[in-house]
Amino acid sequence: MRGVVKIINPYDPGEFPRSGEVLQLGSNENPYPPSERVRKAYCEAAAKINRYPDARYQELKEVIAEYVECDAKNVALGCGASELINRVCDCIVEELDKVVIPMPSYTLYAIYAMLRSASIEMPVFKSYRIDAEAIAELKPKLTFVCSPNNPTGNVVDRKTIKRLAEVSQYLVIDEAYAEFASKSCVDLALQLENVIVLRSFSKFFGLAGLRVGYAIANEEIADAIERVRLPFAISQPALSCAIAAIEDVEYYEDVKRKIIEERERVSRELSKRFFVYPSEANFILVKVEEGFSRRMLERGIIVRRISLPGLEGEHARITIGTKEENDALLAKIQ
Ligand SMILES: *Cc1c(COP(=O)(O)O)cnc(C)c1O
Repeated sequence: MRGVVKIINPYDPGEFPRSGEVLQLGSNENPYPPSERVRKAYCEAAAKINRYPDARYQELKEVIAEYVECDAKNVALGCGASELINRVCDCIVEELDKVVIPMPSYTLYAIYAMLRSASIEMPVFKSYRIDAEAIAELKPKLTFVCSPNNPTGNVVDRKTIKRLAEVSQYLVIDEAYAEFASKSCVDLALQLENVIVLRSFSKFFGLAGLRVGYAIANEEIADAIERVRLPFAISQPALSCAIAAIEDVEYYEDVKRKIIEERERVSRELSKRFFVYPSEANFILVKVEEGFSRRMLERGIIVRRISLPGLEGEHARITIGTKEENDALLAKIQ
């Protein structure tokens, strides 16, 4: 067994509801059900699951390319954005290469960088206000930024991102929540040779249970990722639903408007008692009293307790649910 495997802290997936009574606001899922069109695509795909899916996934790549306005050659696919984090490390990171992960942010980057035996630096920036010059001094082979950031919810400004692209050999911008912010750096990934944008169908498109993600990058990088990913990383039902979801984007835009409206309402309400980080995603980070997340769980609501460098004291990351779910949350907090 490789030593590194023994010292990796496994990814913490948080709590999962054990009964239907429990309200899941801990995993940043979309609380709304799939559109009719997506359900239909799923049922039709069920009849074909004895077959492998089309391994090149050309149709999905073309639909994504149209959605983000690029060429299908700039698209690489994965089993969730999670697989792409792994594959980007596989393609880029050699033993002892410097991988920089500004904190507080998503913890999965460090796991796959460690598996490549990288030399990892995790500089801490208050409220995820990244100082690109401080990162320049670290001379990164690869830098991971998350925008909007999980768990702080803020978008990293373009000037900082452009500077990070100059000071890093490669820059990954994780845009799992980009649709909620209506801000994206896909254009930078198409202009610059060393920038990779990661996207997911799990949040805005509500397909967390099906596992589809993609990367946008220049042709050479996209091709490299395509070479090393699993041959049939995306199942037929996932493939069919991802295509149907993009074709039904108006439905999801509607859902997004509801979530953003609710995010603002829940933020306003919770601000009366707690410090709430301004968010451009489908969750909010709240500075809470000791034991808050545990007490919420006892009352049947799962929120994510966040313990990361740069966040002193207890914090809870709360996913924005439907209006009814948020009402239940606010009532329990009262
Ligand atoms: C949810 C999430 C992902 C991974 O999403 P997949 O379900 O694997 O597509 C990636 N990055 C961040 C920051 C996330 O919050």
